[in-house]
Amino acid sequence: MKISVAELRQLVGERQSFRFAGPAAALFGEGEPLWVDDPIAVEGEVVNNGRVLAVSGTIRAKATLVCNRCLAEYAQDVIVPFAEDYQKASDLQATDAGGDQAYYQGEEIDITDLVRETLLLAEPLKALCSEECKGFCAKCGANLNVADCNCPRETIDPRLAGLQKLLNKE
Ligand SMILES: [Zn+2]
Ligand SMILES: [Zn+2]
Repeated sequence: MKISVAELRQLVGERQSFRFAGPAAALFGEGEPLWVDDPIAVEGEVVNNGRVLAVSGTIRAKATLVCNRCLAEYAQDVIVPFAEDYQKASDLQATDAGGDQAYYQGEEIDITDLVRETLLLAEPLKALCSEECKGFCAKCGANLNVADCNCPRETIDPRLAGLQKLLNKE
């Protein structure tokens, strides 16, 4: 995902929009299994603000996730914003900004890493196929989304577990 900035970088205040779309495999190459078969669209603009070229935009993707409760695969739409300031690599010694500064070389900015990292950070920590997913029965292992089993349902709320014990004693 390379943006040519040959013209843009000549003029402070200049803006330029960009757009990339395609299957994740084509945009990233191999090794991104979560996104690999799904289309990704990246849109945004670069602004030459003098000191840096400021890139910002939005990624639209579809992730293939595995539900934490029922282990079913499901697709989820992901829309994530991103922004990064790029400095020309040859200015590196002069400024020595270090830290988070990103650099571009020659006449183009390659945002592949930026998009990949943004998507990795957007990966949900807790994947649920739906808020109401019932998951598996702790006793018999049946997938409760498919069919109910006949196991007795006990109090699920742990805050009530103590109370339940008390009641059982009496
Ligand atoms: Zn589920
Ligand atoms: Zn069961």
